[in-house]
Amino acid sequence: MRIATVHDRLALLTPAGALDVATASNGEFGPDPQTAFDDWVTFREWATTAHGDAVAFTPEDLGPPVPRPRQVFAIGLNYTRHAHESGLPVPTQPLVFTKFPSAITGPAGEIVLSGPTVDWEVELVAVIGTEARNVTEADGWSHVAGLTAGQDLSDRTLQNAGAPPQFSMGKSYPGFAPIGPYLVTPDELADPDDLRVVTTVDGAVRQDSRTSDLVFSIPQLVSWLSGVVTLLPGDLIFTGTPEGVGLGRTPQLYLHPGEVLETTIEGIGTMRHTLLPPTTKGPRI
Ligand code: ZN
Repeated sequence: MRIATVHDRLALLTPAGALDVATASNGEFGPDPQTAFDDWVTFREWATTAHGDAVAFTPEDLGPPVPRPRQVFAIGLNYTRHAHESGLPVPTQPLVFTKFPSAITGPAGEIVLSGPTVDWEVELVAVIGTEARNVTEADGWSHVAGLTAGQDLSDRTLQNAGAPPQFSMGKSYPGFAPIGPYLVTPDELADPDDLRVVTTVDGAVRQDSRTSDLVFSIPQLVSWLSGVVTLLPGDLIFTGTPEGVGLGRTPQLYLHPGEVLETTIEGIGTMRHTLLPPTTKGPRI
């Protein structure tokens, strides 16, 4: 199953286009995409029998498939080769920070850069379907509604300011958490633990890796996080980025106004954003 936010409404994707969920369900489910996670099991059951008039849509019609998660977790240094390029040891337990939910935006459009050191980080994003607390790794996937693509856009100057540095602020400017284009249930993917993840800038490949290089897999992250906090339906886990970020290059390379950033995950789709120049000076650091 694939769901999307089309013209701000929850839609089920069919070969013919987008099926509006509120209309097709005669109101059993509302138009707000976030409410799909209120009772994910029932929604998913209904979706297997849904029918109605699907309509065509364009990428610009799409919003974030999960517009208002209550919690957004992000994992640092979660690919072996990315840890190596960062000159840091491979973690022995997940390194967790947050991207504040107001940073979320859709899979197409414009993103305002915060300054001259904004970096790209393609990430597979897991969406929680049912509440998880103290779950085992074996049960991890059963709490995941689906997967989507994300960019963990990162202002490296702000991220690394201070001692010790605090990651969350530099990764939470408006638009710094684009997700989409769709939420895809794991059964749609040949191997949800081995997906190609790619970032391009103006068509040039900056990251091209596979999620099989993850240090902590999605079920391991669900298990570990749920041992501390309660994971809530509709929460997001940005699972970390592979090698190829601008910070790890010599010389370092960052995003520039006017460039087009494309984010692709195999079996899920591509997001496309045009980058705009900073509009504010940002914090004093
Ligand atoms: Zn990241």
